[in-house]
Order: sequence, then structure tokens, then C-alpha cells
Amino acid sequence: MNSKRNKGLEKIDKKYLWHPFTQMREWHKESPLIIERGDGNYLIDTNGKRYLDGVSSLWVNVHGHRKREIDNAIKAQIDKISHSTLLGLGNIPSIELAEELVKIAPKGLTKVFYSDNGSTAVEIALKMAYQYWEQQSEFRGLPPQALSGGQKSEVKKTKFISFTGAYHGDTFGSMSVGEIDVFVEKYKPLLFATYKADYPYCYRCPIDKAYPSCKIACIKKFEDILKKHHKEIAACIIEPIVQGAAGMIVAPHGFLKKVRGLCTRYNILLIADEVATGFGRTGKLFACEHENVMPDFLCLAKGITGGYLPLAATLTTTKIYRVFLGEYTEMKQFFHGHTYTGNPLGCAAAIANLQIFKNEKTLQKLQPKIKLLSKLLAGFKDLPHVGDVRQKGLIAGIELVKNKKTKEPYQLEQRVGHKVYRETRKYGLIIRPLGNVIVIMPPLSITIAEIKNTMNIIYGCIKSVTGNEGN
Ligand SMILES: *Cc1c(COP(=O)(O)O)cnc(C)c1O
Repeated sequence: MNSKRNKGLEKIDKKYLWHPFTQMREWHKESPLIIERGDGNYLIDTNGKRYLDGVSSLWVNVHGHRKREIDNAIKAQIDKISHSTLLGLGNIPSIELAEELVKIAPKGLTKVFYSDNGSTAVEIALKMAYQYWEQQSEFRGLPPQALSGGQKSEVKKTKFISFTGAYHGDTFGSMSVGEIDVFVEKYKPLLFATYKADYPYCYRCPIDKAYPSCKIACIKKFEDILKKHHKEIAACIIEPIVQGAAGMIVAPHGFLKKVRGLCTRYNILLIADEVATGFGRTGKLFACEHENVMPDFLCLAKGITGGYLPLAATLTTTKIYRVFLGEYTEMKQFFHGHTYTGNPLGCAAAIANLQIFKNEKTLQKLQPKIKLLSKLLAGFKDLPHVGDVRQKGLIAGIELVKNKKTKEPYQLEQRVGHKVYRETRKYGLIIRPLGNVIVIMPPLSITIAEIKNTMNIIYGCIKSVTGNEGN
């Protein structure tokens, strides 16, 4: 115990730090938990108290903290070099990782463009898709002057289509294709317009018919937009199988495949944002694999380094890549690059992360954990304020509602999710809710016993918090 040091740190934190997505006034009302160390699936605070990392440190951790192989890979890389640029130079870990990513990604994705977070991985895919179509007519052999001035008469593919509830990051491009009102409302005047199709959020489906009618309605709306506007749409961006920030919305089986099919039919590129779902989260290495879907772009970040370092990658096809080839003076290159692109430490961590998947048969070992989680989640459905329970792989969301019959949600100011989070902390579990959805997103390395313990704690905390909230 060193509460004096803790108080000192808290004071400095409150004096100088501005926390992300945080109402700082609320932050100042509470005593923050300050993490000092990690150990496997646990976080350890400055008082030495251990907490199970129930959200994988914001959906990034894969094999636990202080994983020996990743620690060692980073240390070994530090002894060689920590950073050099990919602008005009190559570096060994970025080369080796690119080869590995192409090997494991859905077939056909053959080119790797690095960046350092999920938002930029998405920006890159959007810019590439846009530029791909912009340079298409040249590619088809039209004279260059057809591309400039008044002759650009044909409808150009400059628009995007995305889904209701989508979250793709916090930069302007990624906000433009996102659609969570509280996140983007303030910035709306600055965002580019995007077509919006319905993501199948069956629990709150306005048609109020469970799958499959709801799936058909969403697909029909999607197709209607494409039918009407496909000539101006460059790409569709989707969080395959699971929408994360929307509250762990799991799409019914077949939805993604239908979206892929329609994109192909209407000549629209498909961007799969697997920033959250990638690297085993859904039970397969990539969510697209559940429906055998090959996107034109695959955005990866969060779990790519096992949750160690900021690294991201946007993968695409040879077909896209070739449209960026030309004489130097044609200026067809992709005009994008971040200073830390292809950082050797991040890439070394990512290589080690992927190696562990093989060595430890991570995906195989995950299957019984996923089954157990389903079984335990089923027990939550009877709780009087649990409206919906959703799961895919080691991602789960428990939606709390004020009134189970009418599906009336809790008021924002009741902060029910936050209260559950505060309660679980007492029992040594860290979660982070999304509004009134309790999120369970532990490291893939979580054990059977830890899953049971986690779900027990959450059950008890939901019961006590919602019991006190009344109807
Ligand atoms: C987290 C997330 C992002 C943004 O990633 P950052 O690294 O936070 O920029 C983008 N897309 C999805 C689906 C995400 O979950």
C-alpha cells in the first residue's frame, strides 16, 4: 500500500491529463484507478490490487500482458533498431510481417500498407478506394486530358456507403463513414456525406420481426441504395459480423456474404474494417472467414501487436495496387504516409503475436471458452433488466433496459453501464461499458475459471445495480 504516492499521481493526473471520450468534470469527481503493471490477464494498480482485464485494455490485448515471447521480441528489436522510416527505405520486421499478413489474410489480399492506428487504417482504405476510381479511366486507356477540366462529365465514383451504428475511428474520414450520433454529431458540418444502409440490429429492428425477415429488410434497403446510386459509389465500408462500438451488434449469418455479393454486382469496392474483429476475436482469425468473404480492403489494428504497440495495416489486392502504377511524372502514387509507418518495434511485436497463435494453437483452445461463454450468457436472459444478450466468439454484449417488455432504454443520466463498471471494479474486474451495454471482451488467453469468475461478478453486479435503479 502506498496511498500517498497514489494521491500524488492522482493529483498530477487531474492537473495535467485530458482523457479520451471523457467528461473531465466527472473524472474529477472520482478517484481514478492507476495501473502500474500487468501480469497475464490481470492489471495491477498502484496499490497492488489485481483486476482481470475484461476488455483487453480496450479490445487490443490477445495473449495477456507481459507475454514473454512478445516482450522478448521487442527487446531483441530494441537491441537492433527501434525506428527507421519506410519512406525511401525498408526495414526487416516490416518486410517479414507483410509476408506473414498476406499469408494469413483472406486470399487475394496481397499488398500491405502500414499505419499506426485503426482510424488511419480506415482513412487509407477510403483514400485508396477513391483514388482507384479517380485513376480508373486512365487505366482503361483514356487520354489524360479526359481527367481534367470540363471533360470530366461522366458520373464519378466519389461517394461511400456505410451502415447505421458504424464506428470506424475518430479522424474526419472515418467519422464521415461512422454513424454513432453522440460521437460525430458535433462535427457533422465538417463531414462528407455518405449513404447509410441499415446494419441488422435485430433487437431494435423497426420492423420488429426477428431474423430472417429483418435480415432481408436490411439487405433490401442496401440493394435499393446501390441500385439507385452505384454509379457514384466508390466503396462500401462495413464492420464484418460484429459492430463493436455500436454495442456489440452481431449480424445474422449470411448478411456479410450478401453485402459482398451486391458490392460485386454493382461494381463497388468492399472495405472490411476488422480493427476490432481481427486476430481471433470472433473465433476465427478474421471475421470475414465466417462467411468466406474476400474484401477489397482489410483494415487491421487493435490486436495486431497483441495489444502492445500502436500499429495498423491496410491490406488490398493486386488489382487495386496496379492502378497506382505509372511513370513518376504521372503522379499516380498513393499520397499518404505516417512518420511511424512500419515501425520495427511494432512489427516485431506483431510477428511474435502471430507466432504465438501457431505455437499455442490459440484459436483451437478458444473454442471451448466460446462455448462456455455462450452457456453462461444464456443465464443472463432471465434477469429483469437484461433486454438482449449478444455474442460472437470472445465478444459479448449484454444490453440493459429499463423495461424489458417495451424495450425502453435507461436514461443516459442514469449511467447504468457506468455503475455496473464501478461495481465490478470492487470485485477485481475491469470492464468498460458502451452506454447501457455491458461489454465482455477479455484477452483470448483468459482461462475457463476466469471466464466463470468474470460472468459471476457481472451477473451479481447487474442484479444489484439494476435492482437499485427501479423501473
Ligand atoms: C477502435 C476501432 C477503430 C479505430 O481505431 P483507433 O486505433 O482507435 O483509431 C476503427 N474501427 C473499428 C471497428 C474499431 O473498433
